[in-house]
Amino acid sequence: MTLIATKYLSDLIVQAESKNKNEPEFIQALKEVLSTLEPVIKEHESEYKSLALLERLIEPERIVSFRVPWVDDKGQVQVNRGFRVQFNGSIGPYKGGLRFHPSVNQSIMKFLAFEQIFKNALTGLPIGGGKGGSDFNPKGKSDMEIMKFCQSFMNELQKHIGQDVDVPAGDIGVGGREIGYLFGQFRRIRNAYEAGVLTGKGLEYGGSLARKEATGYGLMYFMREMLKASNIGLEGKTVIISGSGNVAIYACEKAQMMGAKVVGMSDSSGCIYDSDGIKLDVIKEIKEVRRGRIKEYLDVVQGAKYFENTSGTPRIYEIKADIVLPCATQNDINIETAKLLVNNGVIAVGEGANMPCTNEAVEYLIQNNVLLAPGKAANAGGVATSALEMSQNSIRDFWTFDVVDKKLEAIMVNIFNQCQREVNEYNLGINYLAGANIAAFKKISNAMIAQGII
Ligand code: NDP
Repeated sequence: MTLIATKYLSDLIVQAESKNKNEPEFIQALKEVLSTLEPVIKEHESEYKSLALLERLIEPERIVSFRVPWVDDKGQVQVNRGFRVQFNGSIGPYKGGLRFHPSVNQSIMKFLAFEQIFKNALTGLPIGGGKGGSDFNPKGKSDMEIMKFCQSFMNELQKHIGQDVDVPAGDIGVGGREIGYLFGQFRRIRNAYEAGVLTGKGLEYGGSLARKEATGYGLMYFMREMLKASNIGLEGKTVIISGSGNVAIYACEKAQMMGAKVVGMSDSSGCIYDSDGIKLDVIKEIKEVRRGRIKEYLDVVQGAKYFENTSGTPRIYEIKADIVLPCATQNDINIETAKLLVNNGVIAVGEGANMPCTNEAVEYLIQNNVLLAPGKAANAGGVATSALEMSQNSIRDFWTFDVVDKKLEAIMVNIFNQCQREVNEYNLGINYLAGANIAAFKKISNAMIAQGII
């Protein structure tokens, strides 16, 4: 990590490390953000210190952790752990997804909620930062089991959320099906149609057109702007995408619409390579309809190849491409993978996932002139469109796909412009990560200062 010279900042990191000893992902996210804020902190050090601004910024306003008991199809009682981290509500109601994955713990929840504060500020919309989820593993569960789990999870979560309080959405393992079951249970308990309490809803009951596509499309709008600033076009560029979930699928769709050629996609088991370009309808059928494995692509497309993951670098990153879109999970790209990408001549990396690159990988990529679209800016299209869903719910309206998509595109262009402005102001070269963190921090810190010591 870049050396931090400002004492207030370096002391803060030491304190945070000792206070949050078992939370490596959270500490990683803190270090990434704080190290890039140094030019701004230096300008206001004594004011921020006297207000304990950063100490307050890195401490969640509230964390709820709860038991989620449910009965499986065999009649056996299962117990999972649920979380909701309400990190910072200075700009608006807490907003951020729910993740259902066996790896979920407090560290991962806090890192995601912390990142979300900055991401949400960049959208320019009135939403604070939060995140939640459970260590529940949806893989291999029947529909009935998923429903029973979601209902039990909501029995507790409903005490802590509301359209003006905290508005959850989907994330890994939580898609339209889960949001439906969660919303149903919320409505049943409250006996009121409070549509804006969850986003990512089905179109029949308060959802927004283009929400499903928003994160992936938004990533490509940001990528287009970032490349344009360096006089590079997308037409004809080769692309690889890690993951084949919601973000990956719609990043692929928009990349193809923009004239790029996606040659590889993956899931946690391995990756496929199709030199003729990925047939996205096949991927959608496997992942969105059958909930199958990516290797089933070979059953349909002749000539494609499959590479199984072993330990170490996910095999997808061995495929040469101009543009790399990590859209699976955190820490997918470590320093070794970053070196491999640079050796392979990659031009740009677009973080569709949250924190998919380790801090060392980010630094190495930027130092080697790889254009890096940082997740908290580049994947903000999802939450921005969730906020547009909330707007439609509040005014009881339903906008066309085109209206929402145009608003999304304008938001992503604006996010890129904010990053570029800070990069120019502080002479940050191509460090759009620092640009994004600074732009978001200015807004959050002003709101926090205006609202007093709370
Ligand atoms: P999905 O559950 O739809 O898809 C996740 C994909 O990533 C799957 O292909 C999955 O493979 C793979 N994956 C998940 N965990 C791991 C792991 N530990 N190791 C390897 N591969 C893994 O999730 P989303 O597409 O919604 O989310 C992907 C990323 O994007 C996450 O980081 C999320 O936080 C971020 N994000 C999502 C937004 C959204 O709107 N959905 C908004 C902004 C960010 P497999 O099926 O084999 O597990």
